Amino acid sequence: MNNYRFLILSIILLVAGCSENIEYDIVIQNGTVYDGNGGEPISSDVGIIGSEIITIGNLSQAKSKTVIDANGLAVTPGFIDMHAHLDPILNLPLGESAVRQGITTSLGGPDGSSPWPIAQHLDTLESIGIGMNVAYLVGHNTVRRNVLNLENRAPTEAELLLMASQIRQGMEEGAFGISTGLKYVPGSFSNVDEVIELSKQASAAGGIYTSHLREEGLGLFPAVQEAITISREADIPVILTHHKVIGQPMWGKSVQTLAMVDSARALGLDIKMDQYPYAASYTSISVVIPGWARAGGNDAFRERVADPVERAKIKKEIEYNLLTDRGGGDLSRVQFARVRWMPELEGKTLKDWAAMRGLEPTLSNGADLVIEAQVNGGASCVFHAMNEEDVERIMQHPMTMIASDGRLVEPGNGHPHPRWYGTFPRVLGRYVRERGTLTLPQAIYKMTKLPATSLGLEDRGWLEEGMKADIVIFDPEKVIDKATFEEPHQYSEGIHYVIVNGQQAVKEGEFQGLRAGKVLRKN
Ligand SMILES: [Zn+2]
Repeated sequence: MNNYRFLILSIILLVAGCSENIEYDIVIQNGTVYDGNGGEPISSDVGIIGSEIITIGNLSQAKSKTVIDANGLAVTPGFIDMHAHLDPILNLPLGESAVRQGITTSLGGPDGSSPWPIAQHLDTLESIGIGMNVAYLVGHNTVRRNVLNLENRAPTEAELLLMASQIRQGMEEGAFGISTGLKYVPGSFSNVDEVIELSKQASAAGGIYTSHLREEGLGLFPAVQEAITISREADIPVILTHHKVIGQPMWGKSVQTLAMVDSARALGLDIKMDQYPYAASYTSISVVIPGWARAGGNDAFRERVADPVERAKIKKEIEYNLLTDRGGGDLSRVQFARVRWMPELEGKTLKDWAAMRGLEPTLSNGADLVIEAQVNGGASCVFHAMNEEDVERIMQHPMTMIASDGRLVEPGNGHPHPRWYGTFPRVLGRYVRERGTLTLPQAIYKMTKLPATSLGLEDRGWLEEGMKADIVIFDPEKVIDKATFEEPHQYSEGIHYVIVNGQQAVKEGEFQGLRAGKVLRKN
């Protein structure tokens, strides 16, 4: 019982004398209850009043306004998504693409990029009302851009102090930690000392550090080591977000990265991971362009590629990345998802585009097309450059959480990565039921209690009397993702109910369009 209101309510019920007279708002009957701790389930009923779980036990005789028959279904805590791109939330406040996966709490502000100032954003969300609970990280790239714009240099002492004060401000305004995107401009211009200094500010306020590592391909080992160093020097819990191994030369090397995590943990450092369950990544096409070439923004990039000497240097690095990193050594592994200046490219690959131009699918031609895409304003792409064995090995590590890295989306809008719709049902269907990669209790733990305790949440993330009623009810025999790389705009199947703060956001499989979510603030 960690909840004062629950205590008061319990006293009132005791004084009233007979629990038979309690009327619940919702009773979930006959479900198989997985409490989120990773152990075997129990057969039980769950009684909810208002936004709280009041009783877990036999409620077959209880009075209730609503009864949900969960016979044959799994009853679990709501899923907590540790990596969510919530940017469209002002247009999509209901968060349907997340909630219909069973997500009841999303952590925004990943990859170094957050709203600013955070307090103002959180106030706005509170005033418009949102469909799920949200929490935020404060972004390193965001504060670096505030202070240094896109300059490729170390900060002066005064600039570093200013960045540090902005991280402190973000934490005071409710952030749960700091995120970095060291692969992305301008985070890529920072050295480790800068990141340690800023992470100390987040640590002092009880926050975590989550990082899109500096490299996920050939440079993966030093990048993992850098995150471990930051954990040690800044004394902060670290999450290697969307942990993966990119590019054919590195396939299989998750054996080593997981060993690095284990060694660091053995030394007492709190290192964890999160992961999306797909062998392809999704990001801007600029990820294969060297950071120095994009310093100062896209106008500066256009000037550089107009200069033949500079262009040749840039092209060479892009070819190298297409060969060894996200390009996966084959232009057909780069698939366009969002191309505002040429929507007919969406769904097609870099190889298709070369063919449309009558070009051979060589790395050199591919690099020219990448430059052209960036000059035109950039594009979002799916990169099919991972190995399934690494995906499963990372998933099985006891310190790996599930996270979507999804962006809120509505049907028909662009050609997104299927993880935006399917992450959590895919783990439950494909990796638990079909492949046996995880047991169901393990998978649920990775979606609920492990992220909750990592964030320091005390009233959500597992099922216990007195906790907030964030609950998913699904059919373990049927739950599955439907979104594919070809047809991504498809909701998953088998999620029957999603309860957010005691309200049925999904009811009998139908999305209800409620605004039952809460804005969570750390301090
Ligand atoms: Zn990322």
